Amino acid sequence: MLALVPVLVAAPAVAAVAVTLARGPFQGSETVSGAPPAGVVAPRAAATGSTDASGADSRAPGVAQRAARPASAPPSTPAVAYRRSTALGLPHAGRLRDGVQLPAEGAYFFTWDPIFKTRRNRLWRRYATDFTVRRLLRVMREHVAAHPGAPRVGVGDLSRTRGGPFGPEYGSIGHVSHQNGLDADVYYPRRDRRERPPRLPAQVNRRLAQALVDRFVRAGAEKVFVGLNVRLKGPRGVVEPLAHHDNHLHVRFPNRRRG
Ligand SMILES: [Zn+2]
Repeated sequence: MLALVPVLVAAPAVAAVAVTLARGPFQGSETVSGAPPAGVVAPRAAATGSTDASGADSRAPGVAQRAARPASAPPSTPAVAYRRSTALGLPHAGRLRDGVQLPAEGAYFFTWDPIFKTRRNRLWRRYATDFTVRRLLRVMREHVAAHPGAPRVGVGDLSRTRGGPFGPEYGSIGHVSHQNGLDADVYYPRRDRRERPPRLPAQVNRRLAQALVDRFVRAGAEKVFVGLNVRLKGPRGVVEPLAHHDNHLHVRFPNRRRG
């Protein structure tokens, strides 16, 4: 079949395949399973004409560009293309239908790519249910508002665009859970206020970290996993120490439709 196609027509198609393959496993999964389905990116701010687009992901097509925000203005809510999501299966064996993308950053939070170790986590690692995104944003907004001078909250991986396995094939040790849009990694605030994960427990601002844990519990988190060496507390059965959580907490929200 290919042999019948004129060379000039076939060449670009071959080149496109080569480019896709050359992008590697992480970018490749964005191409294959990470691309938002049609109609996902229809930001409310753009649709309604709202000017409150602070924190919008300017790289995402169709998302309003970030508007200038006076330094004195309270933290604003970034534009998010909310839609009703469904968490299928379990956090360690599930999928995500119609997930919602967390913006790359906002006035009160930033996202962090745990593999490339850069700000603005890749978009296909930032999907969750609408409930999870709403609660996560609310907790971070209220935390920063309640603690003047606190650094923005850092968010790591949520789920992939359509959920599913998020293991080592996506970098580092990967995640056992994070499969159906209910889980989020949130980095502990650093004492030096730098916007990057702490490397050591001694770099963690424990007062602010505990405040975040408390606020997630009050917001109805089902689980908050915390490090073995950061000495954070909470209700038994909800806040649980777990290995590999000395630089971030892992919050799991309930599988709920509304909130
Ligand atoms: Zn996690």
